[in-house]
Amino acid sequence: MDFDMLGLQPALTTALARQGITDPSPIQTKAIPHAMQGRDVMGLAQTGSGKTLAFGLPILEALLAEPEKAAPKTVRGLVLAPTRELARQITESLGALAEGTGLRIGLVVGGVSPRGQAQRLARGTDILVATPGRLIDHLDNKAVRLDATRFLVLDEADQMLDLGFIHALRRIAPLLPKDRQTMLFSATMPKQMEELSRAYLTSPVRVEV
Ligand code: AMP
Repeated sequence: MDFDMLGLQPALTTALARQGITDPSPIQTKAIPHAMQGRDVMGLAQTGSGKTLAFGLPILEALLAEPEKAAPKTVRGLVLAPTRELARQITESLGALAEGTGLRIGLVVGGVSPRGQAQRLARGTDILVATPGRLIDHLDNKAVRLDATRFLVLDEADQMLDLGFIHALRRIAPLLPKDRQTMLFSATMPKQMEELSRAYLTSPVRVEV
């Protein structure tokens, strides 16, 4: 099994090969075909399993297939992460794949001045990786809107619940169109995850490694 067999376009398989990534990991093999069909996905996977590319590649693939660019202040795909460090890693990983494609990958986290972030958001973002608190600040300031966001990822969702981000999620998720694809990844599946899934996912495919 290689990435070509998953049906990824050459721009992405070339970018993967450049990074020495040639064979999909188990979570990628299981999740990517469903995600590429547009299904919602609920993935049980640990850090280090390759889950970032499991959700990142299908989103990049879909965005590359649509010629229109992100309009000012809009976001085409949103990835929510519980910590700044994780958000940075995801941005780096997706940024390396998007190199040369013209897609804009953005990062919005606390601890740095919001002004530069707002200026970048103003141009429109193809995939925005964010921690919930700072994203809400930008939403409150009307620096960004989510009404054109067709992809939503909740990464390390168990951590998000532990860190009390459920209130933030309840504010953010209703701002996205109902007609979207949502993927949730978590290292554990506590009971609360069922509620989260019911609230934000539609008939998800469950994958685990
Ligand atoms: P993640 O679990 O998404 O945080 O990924 C962990 C690390 O594995 C990252 O450094 C990725 O670049 C790397 N990685 C992801 N998928 C693969 C793959 N299919 N083959 C080799 N390395 C990978």
